[in-house]
Amino acid sequence: MLKRMGATEDAARRSLGAARGPEDIAERAAQIEALPAEDVLRWAYEEFGERLCLSCSWQKQSSVLVHMVSELGLDVDIVELDTHLFFKETYETRERLVERYGLTLIVPDVLTIAEQHKREGPNLWETNPDRCCHIRKVEPLLEALAPYDAWVSGIRREQSPSRAAARKVERSDRYGVWKVQPLADWTEKDVWRYIMGNEIPYNPLHDAGYRSIGCMPCTRPTRPDEEERAGRWAGSDKLECGIHVEAKAEGDR
Ligand code: SF4
Repeated sequence: MLKRMGATEDAARRSLGAARGPEDIAERAAQIEALPAEDVLRWAYEEFGERLCLSCSWQKQSSVLVHMVSELGLDVDIVELDTHLFFKETYETRERLVERYGLTLIVPDVLTIAEQHKREGPNLWETNPDRCCHIRKVEPLLEALAPYDAWVSGIRREQSPSRAAARKVERSDRYGVWKVQPLADWTEKDVWRYIMGNEIPYNPLHDAGYRSIGCMPCTRPTRPDEEERAGRWAGSDKLECGIHVEAKAEGDR
């Protein structure tokens, strides 16, 4: 079931039309901000067409966006950033979503774990998690986004202070794309309401206390009184894997 659109949102959507260039999109950011998620996706598809992709890591936001794109009938490429270190429940969730929605995934190359051990030393996630994330997430994403002008992801402002300023559309100079974040203003409750209301397959680890799910070595369950992403790189000051960080890092192409 789609969210109902209010009069203000309806007016904002009708007035958008096709952009004349990058400056025009930037100028429209405030209007896009007023749109519900479905209309942000419709706008992005009209604007970027086949040069729009959606990245999935098979957490609850991926379930929402895969379903929403399917409901809207948008033929959007799905990019999977598989680090080879996901939980088995995450891979099973991927299979259920692929089967239900008939997805074809685009999977960028990544070093095997054995190659990484040989090149960088064993268990890089323990000795240098920033480097590990760069190799296993940022570099594959840079490669995957090369053919696209816009990238849809499921980040939400509420997830952590590091995401509090996320906009529904913003420019990423690092990746050379527009970032489209239709769920930026959704709460965790909004996500669950949508998943349950539409009976969408979701990662069962969420039911076991994992409110945010990444790689096995770097994810633990989260207590209700903690921030949603507190179980990621717990015990360190690392907050992000780097794919949603704009600053370029050594090794960026
Ligand atoms: Fe490596 Fe952990 Fe980052 Fe996964 S989350 S890429 S295991 S450091």
